[in-house]
Amino acid sequence: MPDIAFWNKCDNSCVMCTNPPSFALQDGAQYRLKGQIEKLERYLKGGGPVYAKDSGGVPYLSLTGGEPTLHPEFFQLLAYFRRRLPGVPITLLSNGRRFSDLKFAKRFAAAARPPFSVGVALHGPSAKVHDAVAGARGAFAQTVSGLANLLALGGPALEIRIILHKKTVASFPAALRFLLRKFPDAGRYRVTVIHYEIEGMSEANHDAVALRFSGSSAALSAALPLIRRFPELRLYHFPLCQVRAELRPLCRVTLPREERVYPAVCRRCSARKDCVGLMREYRKKFGSSELKALRR
Ligand code: SF4
Repeated sequence: MPDIAFWNKCDNSCVMCTNPPSFALQDGAQYRLKGQIEKLERYLKGGGPVYAKDSGGVPYLSLTGGEPTLHPEFFQLLAYFRRRLPGVPITLLSNGRRFSDLKFAKRFAAAARPPFSVGVALHGPSAKVHDAVAGARGAFAQTVSGLANLLALGGPALEIRIILHKKTVASFPAALRFLLRKFPDAGRYRVTVIHYEIEGMSEANHDAVALRFSGSSAALSAALPLIRRFPELRLYHFPLCQVRAELRPLCRVTLPREERVYPAVCRRCSARKDCVGLMREYRKKFGSSELKALRR
């Protein structure tokens, strides 16, 4: 179970979305309250516990989309999941736009009782960058306003996600500077920097978003002094050999095992046990020649 595709519609149309082009065209019937409850109950009956493959066996539930907050029964579903799984960490992945409505944000903050976190993607430091990636004019203003409301309300735990690909990598340091300026109390949220996945729309748009690790890790290195200013910053999908030594403790393994590979060079690497390896789809597009066995 761990990820429940909560809803198919979205008011963004992100160039690197991992959903396939057909996803948003589904009629959504299976996402209605009854269907979602049946899905979870089937899972719990058939073999729970609810856990993610990447959580080390710790129970966990992730609500994804589309854009979950657009679901017409969003609050009923939230109440059901929270009541049905007390104590299980739930993460909602969102574009953050609906939280620009303070009334909606307040209702969400009240319903999302801990342990609960919300992950919101920020695509850049300006409307010019963010809206071009999101494919929606006005998205940046709403997402930033949504982040401000969530922080002002003081809960649930907030994670700001920056996904690196060809259209965002150049503005990465500016995105970090923007966060420090706009939300200076950086201890109140976590920043997660993600090398994009090649799947769904990002595969369909690959010429527009293609980025090798050499490009994303150069951006990380250049931004190291800024990165150090965030008390909690994590890196997802980066092989350890692709980032400089100071950044390796920030790397996390969060992809299911079947989505990653360890090419021959990894056999000689002393970091393998702590390393995400290479994304399977990345190897198909770019090969594995960038990898270098580490000796620790
Ligand atoms: S060589 Fe392989 S195991 Fe070692 S750091 Fe690179 S990707 Fe990870």
